[in-house]
Amino acid sequence: MKKILSGVNIAVLGGDDRDLVLIEELLSAGAALAVAGFPQLKPRERLRVMATVADAIMSADVVILPLPGTNDAGVIRAIYAPQELVFTEEIAKKIPSTVPILIGVAKPFLKQLAAKYNLRLIETAEMDELAIYNAIPSAEGAIQLAMQEMPITIHFSQSFVLGFGRVGQTLARTLKALGAETTVVARSAAQLARAHEMSCRTVHFADLANYLGEADLIFNTVPSLVLDAEVLELVRPKAVIIDLASTPGGTDFPAAERLGIKAILAPGLPGKVAPVTAGRILGKVYPQLIVKTLREIGIKG
Ligand code: NAP
Repeated sequence: MKKILSGVNIAVLGGDDRDLVLIEELLSAGAALAVAGFPQLKPRERLRVMATVADAIMSADVVILPLPGTNDAGVIRAIYAPQELVFTEEIAKKIPSTVPILIGVAKPFLKQLAAKYNLRLIETAEMDELAIYNAIPSAEGAIQLAMQEMPITIHFSQSFVLGFGRVGQTLARTLKALGAETTVVARSAAQLARAHEMSCRTVHFADLANYLGEADLIFNTVPSLVLDAEVLELVRPKAVIIDLASTPGGTDFPAAERLGIKAILAPGLPGKVAPVTAGRILGKVYPQLIVKTLREIGIKG
């Protein structure tokens, strides 16, 4: 039987345990893989294990970089690679502009290379189809951290969720299910209406100062400085802040420390707390995304 990725050559460059799961899922979907950065893998049917990025990308129809991508110098996050895997300018020159390059988030360095060599860079972390699934391990990881840090149960705690997008919604729903007194803080009337529909208490950001002093637990998902020094003055010293927003988060961490409030920036939770689930999510989303992209550029029928 023809599988969804039959006949598609994919280079997987580095990554972590999520990508090990993704590799198996891509093989199950029929793809032929050349992987670099996974010395523990043994070659088998449709799986070639390469030592270098240059070898892996040769004749690839699609290139996959890990969700965290590269550092500012192009070093690919590859936790099992015996030596650094680097996405260099030489590599960029070798990838045809028809080849989609999937990556979670691309650093400016890679975006500049993509612009210079007309590379088809596709950033996936912010796509709904990935971000909504990833909200599940993110929310569970945040609650796990909260449980470790708090001397009280989640049940009946006064839990505040700042921001009510993909992560905020899943977090609020999970907190509610655990019996937390859940308050959602958002600025959009539609999001506040949805939070109300889910039986959460709702507070507009403009009114945050009137309520924040009640919180035992504050989860921030807003990638802007919403918990600044002035707002933090209102937080009880015994409260715990778990900040999920992308680095640098939405908390003035030095101010929190001065005030004796425990505030934790918690990036990359899916890969840390549930790498297998996070890999399965990639395995569910990427094959469809690859087929859609190859169809758009007229490569797959
Ligand atoms: P999202 O769906 O875009 O939701 C963001 C929320 O923040 C929305 O409610 C948005 O409201 C609100 N917001 C944005 N700017 C605001 C501002 N200046 N003032 C008040 N509210 C504001 O994003 P998401 O997928 O939930 O992700 C949230 C953050 O968590 C991102 O930074 C993401 O990178 C990060 N993240 C972290 C992890 C982790 O493991 N730590 C995992 C997944 C995602 P509007 O709709 O009104 O703009």
